[in-house]
Amino acid sequence: MRIALISEHASPLAAVGGVDAGGQNIHVAALAAALAERGHEVVVYTRRTSEVEPHNVPMAPGATVRHITAGPPEAVPKDDLLPHMADFATELGRHWSRWTPDVAHAHFWMSGVATLAASQKVDVPVAQTFHALATVKRRWQGDADTSPPERMALEEHVGRHAGAIIATCSDEVRELSVMGVPQDRVVVVPCGVDLSSFQPRGECAWKGERPRILSLGRMVPRKGLDTLIHALRDVPEAELMIVGGEPCDEEYVRLAALTAVHGVSDRVRFVGSVPHNEVPKLLRSADVLVTVPWYEPFGIVPVEAMACGVPVVASAVGGHLDTVAGCGLLIPPRQPELVARALNDLLADAHLRARLGAAGVRRARARYGWPRVAERTEHAYKALLATSADQLAAAEG
Ligand code: UDP
Repeated sequence: MRIALISEHASPLAAVGGVDAGGQNIHVAALAAALAERGHEVVVYTRRTSEVEPHNVPMAPGATVRHITAGPPEAVPKDDLLPHMADFATELGRHWSRWTPDVAHAHFWMSGVATLAASQKVDVPVAQTFHALATVKRRWQGDADTSPPERMALEEHVGRHAGAIIATCSDEVRELSVMGVPQDRVVVVPCGVDLSSFQPRGECAWKGERPRILSLGRMVPRKGLDTLIHALRDVPEAELMIVGGEPCDEEYVRLAALTAVHGVSDRVRFVGSVPHNEVPKLLRSADVLVTVPWYEPFGIVPVEAMACGVPVVASAVGGHLDTVAGCGLLIPPRQPELVARALNDLLADAHLRARLGAAGVRRARARYGWPRVAERTEHAYKALLATSADQLAAAEG
């Protein structure tokens, strides 16, 4: 198949760990490579963020990144990109008139808006993965949500008009149903993990005497790092290593101040963002991985920890309900006392840690390896193509 992956703000080539670059970038890069590995021709379309970026960049055998000029060729916060989606759609349509994909798979709602508009001009079946939903974001963030006001309505529009919705977890399916997205078009395919790098054996980062709690991810308030720093007060002896974010981020400054408030500054280490290939050795150095966001559309990080055999403490939200089950401890979000209790239970019990770690490795290998996830994605595309062909035949008579 010729497959177009559209990821307007999240380039598979970008460095991750900043405010707007994380799981979606990693997911799109790995999905493109895994689909190409299965013999497909894959083009990933993403917005040009610098004048020096070439039109096409080969990213893996059979997979190319194509930069689309839409808006200024510079970094723009994703919440300011909607006005440029019409240009993005025009450019997509222009390219598709020369290279027509069999299927277009849009990632995030804005890509969906541009992809549906382009598919009006060049008839291409559209699959959509939201990665995050406005309804959930608004529920948790309220007025702090900086998404454009049109997002909710446009997301519903994409949900109703895309030929297939590829959700990443069962909690998302529930949310989509409340949004009125027809359930017969929704299929669940989780995000994947690279099992050749994320595995228990391999290089391990240096660690001192203290038990190590690791946190990893974009440094934004909803990731709940304040809850974890608060909890550390009641987990004496342990150190907390925080990976992700940059010292200039507002949240970084706030969290650094919070470590002083809770009297744990000497036990917290801010590492900043690290390249993705350095993540496995950091995970392997940890006694436990903690991820306690308020909400989480999928959460690749706990699956990466599981694949490395590291037990997980996670909030019982979103994708964690599917992934972490049986491989870690799930607790309600924003409850520092419960995080502390879970951490103390785990750190006091090497047998429990080993048991949960081993269960994580088994579960990650059985469900989340990229070859398997790419195969399931391919099935979803084939089902979409079959439905589109049926609809065409019915329309023709
Ligand atoms: N990540 C990374 N370096 C960092 C911080 C994060 O490579 O400094 C990666 C992490 O390993 C994971 C992704 O970014 O693959 C985060 O994905 P997740 O779904 O957990 O969170 P999101 O960014 O989508 O909110």
